[in-house]
Amino acid sequence: MNAYVSRVLEELKKKNAHEKEFLQAAEEMVVSLSKVFDQHPEYEKAGLLERFVEPERVIQFRVPWTDDAGNVRVNRAYRIQWSSSIGPYKGGMRFHPSVNLGILKFLAMEQTLKNSLTSLPMGGGKGGADFDPHGKSDGEVMRFCQSLITELFRHIGADLDVPAGDIGVGAREVGYMYGQYKRITNQYTGAYTGKGLSFGGSIGRKEATGYGLCYFVEAMLAKQGDSFQGKKVVVSGSGNVAIYAAEKAMELGAAVVAMSDSDGYITDENGIDLSLVKQIKEVQRGRISAYAEQKGAYHPGSVGIWNVPCDIALPCATQNELPIEGAKALAANGCKVVAEGANMPTTPDATTFLQQQGVLFAPGKAANAGGVSVSGLEMSQNSMRLSWTREEVDEKLKGIMVNIFNNVSKAAKQYAEDENDYVTGANIAGFQKVAEAMMAQGVV
Ligand code: NDP
Repeated sequence: MNAYVSRVLEELKKKNAHEKEFLQAAEEMVVSLSKVFDQHPEYEKAGLLERFVEPERVIQFRVPWTDDAGNVRVNRAYRIQWSSSIGPYKGGMRFHPSVNLGILKFLAMEQTLKNSLTSLPMGGGKGGADFDPHGKSDGEVMRFCQSLITELFRHIGADLDVPAGDIGVGAREVGYMYGQYKRITNQYTGAYTGKGLSFGGSIGRKEATGYGLCYFVEAMLAKQGDSFQGKKVVVSGSGNVAIYAAEKAMELGAAVVAMSDSDGYITDENGIDLSLVKQIKEVQRGRISAYAEQKGAYHPGSVGIWNVPCDIALPCATQNELPIEGAKALAANGCKVVAEGANMPTTPDATTFLQQQGVLFAPGKAANAGGVSVSGLEMSQNSMRLSWTREEVDEKLKGIMVNIFNNVSKAAKQYAEDENDYVTGANIAGFQKVAEAMMAQGVV
């Protein structure tokens, strides 16, 4: 490893010892950037890596709100403004009890390279709160969102920092947050993406991450002379990314045979009935086990999903959900492609194992960039005060995903030992533009 990279990594480990997900993401990233630093000694003189691995700003605040029984509750929220080198901070908000500083820092740093890969002018950010929307009434979710924005509004804006959705934050939560933002600022600007279609949202944003993931996989398979046609696909999760990844995979000729939530997974030999999953998850906000009351089978324990034989696995739930045992089971059953819809769902040892087995591996920061890409398109439409059609958005999304694949593939060929090492390819292709912008803007 490049000596400068190694020194910065050691320092980072000392300083952030308790932030395990952040260190995991940072190590994976900086190790694969080694060759870039070999070729650019001027980066060391400019302290480029020390600056890149440190967020520009971290905001932490309390969110007090009142539940339906009249009790006062307090959650902890954050906004991480990682990098504004190539555009305003951009990245989603996550509501989940596991949210902490280390998880959001890993997500914000990944987001910076992801946004760079889209080729749209967006910097990187991420935020969230340790609030669990499961089991809360609409009124409770609304009061929580309003309280959160009453603090966050002063730190965000259309040309400053543009949040969106992530785990636990969908159309309902974005609506409540945007409503309060608009009320406090007295301005109707594109300060959020993922908005409802009736108030400035982009057609196709809801589907974008899942569809984009399949467009990326389609391009990766095409390079091997293959396609989705006739393939068996396993999709973990049953949230926003998972549902629309499953939808597009089916549209492209594959059969989705398993899906999950954090409690367990469902299988259906006839192919998952996605309209039933949507009814359970999007309308009733229920558990995936309800599927088996009508069709297929339910198996408790979400991690067992990787034992289901498939050609293509799409982890679309959360970080570190695909461990080494899952990777071994996938490979043993003949799986040929693993593409990350979620952020960092595959553990480092599982990723290495899959790559060694010759399984085509698509890292999240490239493969799931479709969501933020259409968020970028939503920002453009808001600025121009117009709306594009579904066909226009979908065509642009597809173009962006194919372009990302080509850039990642090119960087892998140039820098990695294996031309199919898309992990290295994505890190380098994403980092190059950010590094150039940082060098041009001086020590800031
Ligand atoms: P959602 O909240 O819509 O869905 C998350 C899904 O994952 C739920 O079905 C949830 O089940 C399930 N889940 C959570 N933890 C586990 C677990 N340990 N094992 C199995 N399933 C689990 O979130 P999104 O679909 O928006 O996000 C999913 C992933 O995709 C995240 O990593 C996110 O960062 C990433 N992503 C999202 C983008 C977007 O546009 N939304 C863009 C790019 C990446 P349960 O209900 O039981 O919690």
